[in-house]
Amino acid sequence: LRQQIAKSEKSEIVSQLAASVSHEVRNPLTVTRGFLQLVLEDDELPQEKRKSYIKLAIDELDTASNIINDYLTFAKPAPTNWELLDIEVQLNQIEDIILTYANMNSVSLDTEFASCIIQGNKQQFHQCLLNITKNCIEAMPNGGVLSIYTSIFQHHVLIQISDTGVGMTEEQINRIGEPYFSTKEKGTGLGMMVVFSIVKAMKGTISIQSKVGYGTKISLRFPIAIPK
Ligand code: ADP
Ligand code: MG
Repeated sequence: LRQQIAKSEKSEIVSQLAASVSHEVRNPLTVTRGFLQLVLEDDELPQEKRKSYIKLAIDELDTASNIINDYLTFAKPAPTNWELLDIEVQLNQIEDIILTYANMNSVSLDTEFASCIIQGNKQQFHQCLLNITKNCIEAMPNGGVLSIYTSIFQHHVLIQISDTGVGMTEEQINRIGEPYFSTKEKGTGLGMMVVFSIVKAMKGTISIQSKVGYGTKISLRFPIAIPK
């Protein structure tokens, strides 16, 4: 019965998000199309104008791409929704994925993972960690350290993700996860909303501590499915 409940909750979230992502992506695509049409139709367009329209079109395409990235894995329907996940195995895979992005931004990784089994969907778990760590890396424009540690308790596992970045004000912490709340020029404000939905679907909890100028720590707790 418990598994059935989890399944129906998840498919509900997925269909909501899938509808939302197609809606959100349509806006920047429409704007892009408009700018390209202007460039195509006006032969007299000065070079400067032409360039600025093309640049705006590229910006809009970046926005569309960011929206898809923040949602992609989550919105994709998975054939087997509920799996047993070894967090050590999963976090190692996630570390491999973020390594290049971290290096590109002069961010070094400090990680230590222990093994334990939780329940969830692998793609969603990856999306959740990717959205969080991407924010951490983006919060360190001049480089820094991204650390990910796990601690195992009797009934739950704690995953702590910390950055040495810009941090958040109390008001920002309160608004995080609110759809479309973003302080970034090309932000979607959807990444953390997706994170909150996934954590909830996995029966987990999330807490955020942050200090402006020092950094942010995100703590995820998930119930352990198979005790050792
Ligand atoms: P986006 O990254 O597109 O702005 P998110 O939902 O992923 O949208 O994040 C929302 C906002 O939360 C960000 O714009 C930023 O202000 C804040 N935020 C999230 N994570 C961090 C972090 N690690 N450090 C500082 N601010 C953060
Ligand atoms: Mg983000």
